[in-house]
Amino acid sequence: MEWRGGRASGNIEDRRGLGPVAGIGGLGAGGVVLALIGYFVFGIDPSTTLSALSGAGQPAPAEQQQGVRGTPQDPSARFVDVVETNVDDVWTQIFQQSGERYQPPAAVVLYDQSTTTGCGLGQSVMGPFYCPNDQKIYLDLSFWQELSGRFGAQGDAAKAYVIAHEMGHHVQHLTDQDQQARRLGARGATSGSVRLELQADCYAGVWAAHASQVSGGRVALGPKDIEDGLRAASAVGDDTLQRASQGRVAPDSFTHGSSAQRMRWFRAGASTGDPASCDTFRAASL
Ligand SMILES: [Zn+2]
Repeated sequence: MEWRGGRASGNIEDRRGLGPVAGIGGLGAGGVVLALIGYFVFGIDPSTTLSALSGAGQPAPAEQQQGVRGTPQDPSARFVDVVETNVDDVWTQIFQQSGERYQPPAAVVLYDQSTTTGCGLGQSVMGPFYCPNDQKIYLDLSFWQELSGRFGAQGDAAKAYVIAHEMGHHVQHLTDQDQQARRLGARGATSGSVRLELQADCYAGVWAAHASQVSGGRVALGPKDIEDGLRAASAVGDDTLQRASQGRVAPDSFTHGSSAQRMRWFRAGASTGDPASCDTFRAASL
């Protein structure tokens, strides 16, 4: 994947080095918040709840941590900046074509271990996630080691797929599709949660299809990169994760979709480049 030299808009809030949030070390508070925001997490959190998304009963966040805004200079953070900007550029164009205005997320927050968010306490163990309350994406870069090690998905394109998936959740928030999902329930193979996650995968595919047409053509994915993206989508399927952690598969508890489904919808977006092909809410079969 080519990305060096791509446009960087500096929509990064760098909280690395601030350290974990003080005073919250116990499982109690963390467990609750984990369930609250698990919904938008990138497929590794088993304890998702949909009803909690309404925001009711959320603990008031402690004082928010403030990071440094702008473009960090280290390559791993710069990569996130360039990819985020490229995904923004793609969605700006797509929204324009239907006469709408795209608003980028408020920031991609880079943090270590734990941080405050508009959805409660954010922790590395959750994996990357999107918080609709503050419209920020939260990412601990140590997840990349997990992605290549535990999930076996290597290469920059696999990382870019993760970022594009979370940006997909932002698009769903802008278009109210997350509200639609909420009405359809949180668990099970055809739940609102699964439909929302598969749509975010499809949106990641839509991004991949257009990546090289924006940002001055400096970001480009080849066929092997698409394969890497597919491999990442497959690696974080509910069935694959469950098999790895429990040795069996329980579709009733699916929250993100199976490996085959995640690949199918990523491919649908990547092959058409058309968000209309991502209507997982009307699809008869997923
Ligand atoms: Zn997701």
